[in-house]
Amino acid sequence: MGNMSFYGCDVSELASEYGTPLYIISEENIRERCREMKSEFLDRYENTKAVYASKACQILEVLRIIASEGIGLDVVSGGELYAALKAGYDPSKIEFHGNTKSERELKEALNAGVGTIVVDNLSELALLDRMSGEAGIVSSVLLRVTPGVDSHTHEYISTGQLDSKFGFSVEEIIGGAAQRAQKSPNIDLRGFHYHVGSQLHDNSSHIMAAEIILDMLLELGKKTGYEAREINCGGGFGVQYAGDPERPKVSFFMDPVMEKIETFCRKNGMERPAVTIEPGRWVVGEAGITVYEVGAVKTNAAGRTYIGVDGGYPDNPRPALYGAKYDVRAVEKADLPCDRKVTVAGKCCESGDIVAWDVMLPELSRGDHIAVLCTGAYNHSMANNYNRVPKPAVVVVNKGKARLAARRETYEDMIRLEL
Ligand SMILES: *Cc1c(COP(=O)(O)O)cnc(C)c1O
Repeated sequence: MGNMSFYGCDVSELASEYGTPLYIISEENIRERCREMKSEFLDRYENTKAVYASKACQILEVLRIIASEGIGLDVVSGGELYAALKAGYDPSKIEFHGNTKSERELKEALNAGVGTIVVDNLSELALLDRMSGEAGIVSSVLLRVTPGVDSHTHEYISTGQLDSKFGFSVEEIIGGAAQRAQKSPNIDLRGFHYHVGSQLHDNSSHIMAAEIILDMLLELGKKTGYEAREINCGGGFGVQYAGDPERPKVSFFMDPVMEKIETFCRKNGMERPAVTIEPGRWVVGEAGITVYEVGAVKTNAAGRTYIGVDGGYPDNPRPALYGAKYDVRAVEKADLPCDRKVTVAGKCCESGDIVAWDVMLPELSRGDHIAVLCTGAYNHSMANNYNRVPKPAVVVVNKGKARLAARRETYEDMIRLEL
């Protein structure tokens, strides 16, 4: 009888050795994605950059793997910056994001010497200009633009401002925000940033957003003579969750975008700005799985069979937050036919804590293990202690060997800050 294997490791053995719930992350899978960013984008086009949106998974060992591939990093808080520096990230390769950065966070970013600060609004621009002046430095800045592309409907909402908490509208950039940045003595406005959405399997939002930003650059150039030196096209590339098609290649998103940008620059006699991508989920999503132990198995009066597991909402809030769907596999009974329709229930006191509705699995009983696939992104980084459930351990596997990247939280860990 074959146990489920993950990158050469026996998943059942890992569950016995490290306990459950357990996050298992494949180093090889992450390195493959980093190399694909190189072969499909960085090597294909000159003057390009890739940064990993680290909010998807901030485990230090994961950051070290990505750093060793030469990929930059995007952080959105002082805490993420702290972890990135602890992982040994080169600060010049870090971009600092966030719609409401505190003065303390800006100070931390300036002290660390982060390479780029993506400014979200005018109040932040003024604050950063003052703080940079006090520190005797000129900050390298991109302004965040909300291009107004709705990634669900693919419509440009041209009437009025798109209602987003992020960034400037195109009208605000042209109407004065870019000039304000240019005139700020301690700000070097390198260009613009936008990010159109997440988990996209369609490239039309990226293409449409690029068109809008290019039109913006043209108008801005006519009005002020400004030429951007960098465009950051954000992330949002999709991965394969339950029911999804295969993960698209980077080139599927970026080839048509680069074509737009290059054609536009040629036509308007502009030098092509540097182009940056910043995927998060795409880099780490499929590299991770979560292993649970089966507890109670029961069929309720409505005829639904529930497989209760020892985790759920605390280690993966995505099903409860946005109805995210995951593929589930039996670990020890991997060879048995999946002939039972069951619902995998998390252990929290919330009816919404369901790991997966109506999935097909073999007959399982207490003590068996199941694995949930594609949990590398937005699981560990979103984990919480609801119901005082300790956070799982993290194991990184490579070439059939496993190493502990984070130990399991203890009950003591969970109360250690309380007085
Ligand atoms: C979250 C985020 C990303 C990454 O999004 P993914 O969907 O994980 O690729 C990139 N840029 C910014 C500004 C983000 O907020």
